[in-house]
Amino acid sequence: MIDRCNLIKDILPLYAEDMASTDTREFVSEHLEHCAECRAEFERMQKAAKFIPDAVHDADIVPLKRVKRDLFIKRLQTICFTAILACAIVTIIFGILTSPEFFPYSDNLLNVIDVPDGGVIITFDREVTGYSCNQVFDNETETAIYRINAWTTTWDLRLSDRGKQNMVMPFDHETEIQIFYAQNDGSEDVLIYGANQNTEENGVTLPRLILMPYFLLAFLALVVLVILRLLLRNKQTAVAWIDRAIPFPISYMAAQLCTKGFNFTTYSSQRDFCIIILVAMLLYFAMLTGKSLYKAKLNTSRG
Ligand SMILES: [Zn+2]
Repeated sequence: MIDRCNLIKDILPLYAEDMASTDTREFVSEHLEHCAECRAEFERMQKAAKFIPDAVHDADIVPLKRVKRDLFIKRLQTICFTAILACAIVTIIFGILTSPEFFPYSDNLLNVIDVPDGGVIITFDREVTGYSCNQVFDNETETAIYRINAWTTTWDLRLSDRGKQNMVMPFDHETEIQIFYAQNDGSEDVLIYGANQNTEENGVTLPRLILMPYFLLAFLALVVLVILRLLLRNKQTAVAWIDRAIPFPISYMAAQLCTKGFNFTTYSSQRDFCIIILVAMLLYFAMLTGKSLYKAKLNTSRG
């Protein structure tokens, strides 16, 4: 019995602080019911906690409080890490599913209807679930040039029915208007409204390569940061800052590769860039929480 009592007395502080696991708690409670000596020790411990002056009392339980707090923080970090990672994955999948697939021009893709009061209405084929329009004003010919495109997405095809898309373009009849359909596949834009004054070419809407310089910039930043870290490895504050900065370019590059792979061309640069930045931010915080979790794990396994 003596051995068991010693064991119980070792655990009693944890038990009194309500920090023992359920099994341990049951084991201790059961023992306390039968063993007067340990029960007395437990009661003494509780009384002592009540009557010891606050200062001493606080000093006594600070380590326990710290352990408790560390456990809480660790649990919180695990939850955050999982939640952030899940958000990142959802955003990546959402980005891929909603990336626009542009329609090449065909006769039944769209209809242009003149509005007597001014302007046109463009009605699209049922397959079309989205469109966008860019307007530039050509000062030389004093013509407003619109370039529109139409697309659908995997998401829209499978999961949502947006109904027939119509586009209303109001304008007065004093300005010359040209409306082109941009095919967004490298082939020539098609004139769908207005007269072509330059008669030569309709022009080709080219994809933007904007994602490439950003990716290279991130790569360059990473190289610079790694070199700085090697050079300043003896300066602790500098290293701490660099370690916080290094995940930035890494997450940006990872976000690009997760959402678009090695495809750096885009016809919807704003959309793509927003998604990449969002995923990059999520990956950055996932990396930070993951890192501190990993560190905490190393610490506990070291004892
Ligand atoms: Zn006992």
